[in-house]
Order: sequence, then C-alpha cells, then structure tokens
Amino acid sequence: MTAAVIDGRAIAAAVRAELAREVAALAALGVRPGLAAVLVGDDPASLSYVSAKAEACAEIGVFAETVRLPAETTQHALLERIAALNADARFHAILQQLPLPAHLDERAVLDAIRPDKDADGLHPANLGRLLRGDPGGPAPCTPRGVMELLARSGVDPAGKHAVVVGRSLLVGKPLAVLLGGKAAGANATVTLCHTGTADLAAHARRADILVVAAGRPRTVTADMVKPGATVIDVGVNRIDDPTRKRGWRLVGDVDYAGVSEVAGRITKVPGGVGPMTIAMLLANTVRAARLAP
Ligand code: NAP
Repeated sequence: MTAAVIDGRAIAAAVRAELAREVAALAALGVRPGLAAVLVGDDPASLSYVSAKAEACAEIGVFAETVRLPAETTQHALLERIAALNADARFHAILQQLPLPAHLDERAVLDAIRPDKDADGLHPANLGRLLRGDPGGPAPCTPRGVMELLARSGVDPAGKHAVVVGRSLLVGKPLAVLLGGKAAGANATVTLCHTGTADLAAHARRADILVVAAGRPRTVTADMVKPGATVIDVGVNRIDDPTRKRGWRLVGDVDYAGVSEVAGRITKVPGGVGPMTIAMLLANTVRAARLAP
C-alpha cells in the first residue's frame, strides 16, 4: 500500500484564502490586522521563518512589521520593546521568534506579551485556557496546524489512539491536550512519548494517528507504524546532501520512503506541517484583530 499524501501546502492555501476574505471584511470596518514579529540576532533559519511569515501576511492583507534587534540585546531592552508593541494599536498580535540567544530569558519574554496579542499562543494564560478546553483562544500554531490538517483531510481523531512523539511546550504537549480534548475534531485517546519512553516502537505501532515532533531524522521507521495509520511528520532537520547544489536538504523525523509504504496517510517534509504553522499564525493574528477592543 502506498499512503495518500496529506498536502499541507494545498490545505494551508485554502485556510489563507478563507482568512483573506475575513481580512477584506475587517477592512470594510476600518480594521487592518497587524502582526509584529520580533527577531533577536541573525540566526539564518529564524530569519527565513520570519520573512516567510511576513510574506504570508502581506499576501492576505495583514500589516506585518519585523522588529530586528542585535544578538547582544539585553533582557531589559527586549522587554521594553515588547511593552511598546503591547501599547501600539497598529499591532493586534506579537510574535517573538524563538530560539532567543542564550543570555535571554525566553519564559520572561513570552510572559511579557499581552495575552490578547499573543500570536503564538504560548503565554501561560493562553496555555491555561488550552488546558481548560476554552474554545477560541490562540492555540500554539504548530499543534493547531496539525489539528486543522487532520480535520481538513477527513481524519477524525474521535475514539482513535493518537501517539505523539515529543513533549515540547511548542508542539508535543499542547498537541496531546488538543487531541485528547472533549471537543469535535478531537476526543482521541492519547499517548505522549519522549526520550524517557521505554520501547517507543511498541507505542508507535499502536497508533491510529502518529504525530512525530522529536527533531531527529528517522525517529520513526516503517516497522514502527501500524498499517493504514495516519502519520504526521512535524520534524524539520537539515541533513548533508552532496547531490544538492547547496549541500543539504530538509527531512522530517519520519523515514518517508519506508513509512509511506505502510501508512494510510502521510505528510511530507517540506510541504506538510510547515505551511500550516504559518497559516495558523495568520489565523491567530486575524482572530486577535477581530476581537480587539
Ligand atoms: P524540542 O523542543 O527539541 O523537543 C523534542 C521532543 O522530542 C522532546 O520532548 C524530546 O524528549 C523528544 N525526543 C527527541 N528524541 C526522541 C526520541 N528518539 N524518542 C522519543 N522522543 C524523542 O523540539 P520541538 O520544538 O518540539 O520541535 C520538534 C521538531 O519539529 C524539530 O525538528 C523542529 O524543527 C520541528 N518543528 C517544526 C515546525 C513546523 O512548523 N514544521 C514547528 C515547530 C517545530 P525529551 O523531552 O525527553 O527531551
């Protein structure tokens, strides 16, 4: 069996088209959603993520500004900048691009973003809402993107066994909460795996829905997948590839060639979860503008 591909690019394009219509409706009311992206330092991956996000905003009519700060920015200066953005009515949402340079306290920075302007849904108040199952709050973009991918490809998690590999605050942990939530499009029975899991393969093989966010190529291979399972690969890893001009290529955490022969549905890297993460950032921004006082 060869798995059907869940096309993240196409699904994200459909989400963006819906959002563009909402942005047009807001424009008629005199509201232009605005996103401020804060980037500290010049990490090339972060730079390319931020510019992709700004481009996606421009495409649907969202006002986007990137605040670039030098790598040696102090905690105090960064918090002052966030405070200024909190008070700036042009911005309905603020995104702090992560990771931050090591001398900066990531948690304190995320805590400083006004919860109603929290583009990434990582403020403790919003994570608390997620845990309570409050609908409508800004959920972290990647987990929310995975839920949309499932919903829009007709995979209903209800009653299924979902296995999430990885327990980061950015991806695995909130995703496990969303999948297991008592809500339409969720209601799965969830197993959350990590490096302390004994026998990852045994857990993975029991998954109807297997989501892998470990940050390690080939964390999941064909022998670890139940025939017909839905496999969502969140991982983005740069590996050497001398056949490419640039000398590298991106792969996920799943051995695509092998697993796509066993799974029922699968996402690709690139072109799977990544475009959905950006689409959900736009969704959180538009939502914040719609709800703004
Ligand atoms: P992270 O903070 O490094 O967390 C990785 C998680 O995976 C940890 O919980 C770790 O366990 C677990 N893990 C690592 N190796 C494992 C193994 N061999 N077996 C079981 N569990 C293992 O990473 P992250 O921020 O969640 O990101 C994960 C991946 O997704 C990365 O490749 C990242 O680039 C990618 N990502 C993609 C998007 C997108 O939009 N496509 C967005 C965000 C992240 P411990 O907790 O025990 O250490």
